[in-house]
Amino acid sequence: MYIPIPDLKQAQNVLVVSPHPDDAEIAAGGTIALLAEKGAKITYAMVTDGAKGGLEPGFSEAQVAAIRRAEQEQAGKVLGVADIIWLGFQDTEVPKPETVREPLISLIREVQPDFVISLDPWLPYEAHPDHRRASMAAVEACLFAGLPMIQPEDMEHGLVPWQVTGIALALSLKPNTFIGIDATWEKKLEAIKCHRSQFPGPTWDMFYPLILAKSREYGSNANARVGEAFKVLTTTHLHVMVDTWEA
Ligand SMILES: [Zn+2]
Repeated sequence: MYIPIPDLKQAQNVLVVSPHPDDAEIAAGGTIALLAEKGAKITYAMVTDGAKGGLEPGFSEAQVAAIRRAEQEQAGKVLGVADIIWLGFQDTEVPKPETVREPLISLIREVQPDFVISLDPWLPYEAHPDHRRASMAAVEACLFAGLPMIQPEDMEHGLVPWQVTGIALALSLKPNTFIGIDATWEKKLEAIKCHRSQFPGPTWDMFYPLILAKSREYGSNANARVGEAFKVLTTTHLHVMVDTWEA
């Protein structure tokens, strides 16, 4: 591979694109907390409010959305997130990436992140359309945010084209970057547990061993007890590059 992989640990200004409340904490909460502790500014772009993620019948979508927004705000505080931008797309009905990337391109130009963290849109067995579309939109937005001919109306509103240094894709089949999160593991667990509506006792009891086993596996690649894994790429990797699968 001829293009160097940027160092996620050096990130100073991070935009996290999450399909639903809780995805960012599960996939990257330890790394987000680690970067925030080192002084990085963290902004979340929350693609949906998770209004259809209620586990108990009898709640309206508006009620579930209000609960999940509050849970996400609380989880963000635990990790040191500076700002959460709610994009307002409908849970389970996130539209095609061409639509979702529009507000993301504007947001990248406004926030001017060096790194964007999202999920890997090329995870082969990911069945949730919101995850596939939101993460693909994040990647496409990174590819286009630096091009002045794309959404020129942004520039009329005072924004400038912005090229990110790196894109870190969590939940990847082909991770190339492992981050030890021993120091922030407890914060990550606390942040996930803020999403009480998604992880009532029995659900958490089932989920915790899974997350622990995977975190230990990733940690062993980073000389740590627990870790997180990312496929970190540049935008150059993401167009006409046949080696990117192995990058
Ligand atoms: Zn999700």
